[in-house]
Amino acid sequence: MSFLEARGVVRSYGQTPALRGVSLDVQEGEILAVTGPSGCGKSTLLHCLAGILRPDAGEVLYRGHRIDTLTESARARLRRTEFGVLFQFGQLVSELTAAENVALPLLLAGTGRREARTAALTWLDRLGVADLAEQRPGEMSGGQQQRCAVARALVTEPRVLFCDEPTGALDSLTGEQVLGHLVRVARQQGTVVVLVTHDARVAGYADREVALRDGLVDPSGLGLAAGAR
Ligand code: ADP
Ligand code: ADP
Repeated sequence: MSFLEARGVVRSYGQTPALRGVSLDVQEGEILAVTGPSGCGKSTLLHCLAGILRPDAGEVLYRGHRIDTLTESARARLRRTEFGVLFQFGQLVSELTAAENVALPLLLAGTGRREARTAALTWLDRLGVADLAEQRPGEMSGGQQQRCAVARALVTEPRVLFCDEPTGALDSLTGEQVLGHLVRVARQQGTVVVLVTHDARVAGYADREVALRDGLVDPSGLGLAAGAR
């Protein structure tokens, strides 16, 4: 049984088709890159897999159960308890310190202040930015901010982390450093990662790559990382 699976997923925005029947599966412990040029449907697929968007047709299964047919509140609960998301950049609350930012998802989930802070410090340490705990985003570099954002995405210990161009706003060296931390921690924790990117170097960090073209899986299977490795 796949850990996470899309079966013939179709999704349009009005008259614009974004996904035209995409099937893929993600195994337990796997880091999967979804690649392809801008506009090929990567973000839409990520949102469908994460239960944010509902497909027009097809199925999404998480650990063998359909999630696309769940109610909005059931999908919201799933996203809170099982899934984490990491976007390109700028997700940190500028008025809060790094520790407060990372503690926030736990506080929102009802964890006590002391416990949330302890967990936040643990996660900042795992991402190698423990020394930044009392700094605010404006005082940090882009790479440092994104490492804090990774800590915040993982502090709730999701079973799947969905990343949409997680290093897209960083220069390539900084991006690779952030990604190195993300992948190392995900492997330690056994977190499944679905990584959307148009960047071959980012795809090279994944166990496997699925390439999209015009809303379909590219059957050639020759993704970006083939050339980068
Ligand atoms: P729908 O047809 O699903 O109702 P809309 O066309 O109303 O979607 O757009 C929903 C949101 O997405 C709007 O905020 C709009 O600005 C934004 N949007 C529209 N076109 C695009 C696009 N090509 N890429 C990304 N976002 C878009
Ligand atoms: P990618 O992540 O690969 O760039 P997307 O999933 O964002 O691709 O977009 C797939 C297609 O759907 C594109 O043609 C895009 O313009 C369109 N699209 C994406 N979001 C919206 C939206 N909110 N409203 C209308 N069209 C959209």
